[in-house]
Parts: sequence; C-alpha cells; structure tokens
Amino acid sequence: MRVAVIGAGVAGLAASRELSKQGIETAVFEAADRVGGRVRTVRENGYVADYGPQQIAPRKMQIERTLLHELPTTGLVKIEKPTHLLQGYRAAAASKMQNSTDRYTYLQGIDQFPKLLAEGLDIRLGVRVDEIKNGTAGYRVLDQDFEAVILTAPLPDIAHLLAARKDRRANLNIVYRSCLSVCVGFAAAPPKVPFYSLLSTDRMTPLIWLGAETEKCPERAPEGHALFVAQYGPEFSEDNFEIEESKLVSTTVQTVSRVFGSEYSNPEWHFVHRWKISQPERVALFDAINPEGERLILAGDGTVAGRIENAFESGHKAAERIAKLIR
Ligand SMILES: Cc1cc2nc3c(=O)[nH]c(=O)nc-3n(C[C@H](O)[C@H](O)[C@H](O)COP(=O)(O)OP(=O)(O)OC[C@H]3O[C@@H](n4cnc5c(N)ncnc54)[C@H](O)[C@@H]3O)c2cc1C
Repeated sequence: MRVAVIGAGVAGLAASRELSKQGIETAVFEAADRVGGRVRTVRENGYVADYGPQQIAPRKMQIERTLLHELPTTGLVKIEKPTHLLQGYRAAAASKMQNSTDRYTYLQGIDQFPKLLAEGLDIRLGVRVDEIKNGTAGYRVLDQDFEAVILTAPLPDIAHLLAARKDRRANLNIVYRSCLSVCVGFAAAPPKVPFYSLLSTDRMTPLIWLGAETEKCPERAPEGHALFVAQYGPEFSEDNFEIEESKLVSTTVQTVSRVFGSEYSNPEWHFVHRWKISQPERVALFDAINPEGERLILAGDGTVAGRIENAFESGHKAAERIAKLIR
C-alpha cells in the first residue's frame, strides 16, 4: 500500500478516488462505521432528512465533473426552488446573486454522494488512527507501511496525533462552530411556498437555516406529510448544547408554525443531532500549511472553507500533490 488516507468524509474519499484513478494504491482509515463524515441523512418513519449539509453546490470546482459526469446520476436531484431570507418570522426573496449557483441533492438523501464516491475504494471502517509512526517506506499506520499520508479529519480530532510527531501544525488555529440540527415531521400537507429554505441573517431568531424538505426534493416525507429541518446558529448552539431534547423540539416547532402556519404545531416525528464540529469558523489555508514536497498532507474543510465542494477540492489537491511526489 502506498498512501494512507485518514478519514472517509468527502475530502478523504476525493483524495483516495483521485489517487486510485492515477493507479496509486490507497487505504482509507475511518473511525466511524460509515463513510461520509459530516454528510449525513436519517431515514425513519418514511421521512428522509439531511441533518448535516443541505445541498451540494459544485460552483465549477473539481467536484462538478465527478458529481455530474463520473458518478451514476440515478436519484441526483437539481434543487429547483430558491433559498429565501428569514426576516423575523417572515420569508423575503433573496437577491439573484444568492441563488445564482446550481444546487443538488439525492432522492435517497445527500449521503448517497459519499456512498457513491466510496465505491471500489479500500476503506477500513471502524478504525481510528491514533498514531502515525515513522517507517521504512516513510510512515507506519496500524502496522502497515506507507510512502505518504493524507489527514482529512478535522484538526481537533487529530491534533494529538500531530503533536506526538512534534509536527507544529498540531497548533494551527483552525476553529469549528457547533450546530444544533432539528428535523420535524408533520401529518399535514407540505407548505405551498416558492422557496425550499430560509436563510436567517438578521439574528431575530436563533436559527441560521430553516428548510422545507418536501420543497427541496420529492419523496422526503410520506404522501401528504411535511418535513422541516432547522439548524441553529453558533451562539445559540454553543450556549444550549446540552439543552433537553423536548425543549429544543418545542422551540423549533414554535418557529416552524409561526413561519409556515399553525397546521405545523404537533410533530409526529422528530430527530435531533448535536454537532460539536459543524463548519469551520477559522481555517488554515492548504498551501500555507502543506509546503511543496511534504508527504504528510493536511486536507479537509479546515484547510479551505466549510463546504462540501471545498472539502472535495482539498482532497483532490492533496492527491495531486502526492501523486507528483511518488509516481
Ligand atoms: C450542520 C452542518 C451543516 C452544513 N451545511 C452545509 C451546506 O449546506 N453545504 C455545504 O457544502 N457544506 C455544509 N456543511 C459542511 C460540510 O458538511 C463539510 O464541509 C464537509 O462534509 C467536510 O468534509 P471533510 O471530509 O473535510 O470532513 P468530515 O466530513 O468531518 O470527515 C472526516 C472524517 O474523519 C473521521 N475521523 C476523525 N478522526 C479520525 C481518526 N483519528 N481516525 C480515522 N478517522 C477519523 C471522521 O469520522 C470523519 O468521517 C455543513 C456541515 C454541518 C455539520
């Protein structure tokens, strides 16, 4: 095996895919028992809710070719309705600029994207890497030798591993926000609105995002039912991280019913996820922290920006760098 990739989120999968395309063997080590990292979907009681990222916006980056032309497009959905703004408890149209980018998800849930990326790759699930030793080929990870390592896990998860190697990048100032995500389903017809989500920027509510999932994508709720996903801003999420689930759900339902109507007052289903690490508040840029010639590369959204397309770009770039060095 030639390259170890730590983390099977979008960045790690993009890196491993690109190296494989170039004929370079990789092994991906993933602590969780699933691929995708923060790209997650819950499927319960007929509801399909994306509770991390809400959409993929390729923005003419590397991800675009992979998403639209390389991977199977069965179930890939272009989101047709725009995002509006949440001003107080009212929806207001956003600027054309804000909706100028194409956005996608999958019928099966957004986690279909990493599942497709992962096909054919050598991924070791449920394997947390806690040490990178020096070895005969360069590095030794879990008793295997590698010529290079690409680290894609968020820095707070792997700083200890760099510190043990006396790698100064352990102290980089990469800071992540936390985010409370709440999904609520109702036995009431979906709202008839000209948007699929509301972006809150005025701080009148603690929300940053309120998505009407049935307007984003078909088959997200049983016929005649409605599904909403609320995501709370960093201050509220930090201050209320341990809040009782029932309180958080009832606060969310109050907002949903004020915005969309009183028929959304009694949820029949809910799901809560508390993200300690959601999107980076502060990043350390890829080129600045990975000098040319470096064989232990840091990638992932903390080295670019907190979006799927950026995470993908960083993994792709790391793979290109390594391929040049070891080919
Ligand atoms: C609530 C929320 C909303 C978001 N909204 C959007 C959005 O609308 N649009 C958008 O584009 N992006 C959004 N994002 C951001 C997007 O999800 C991330 O930028 C992207 O998924 C990061 O991918 P990554 O591969 O860099 O990291 P991750 O997805 O975090 O992957 C890292 C992986 O490393 C694994 N790992 C950690 N430590 C170890 C270890 N020691 N050994 C082995 N494996 C390890 C983890 O289990 C994880 O699977 C959102 C994120 C959240 C949480």
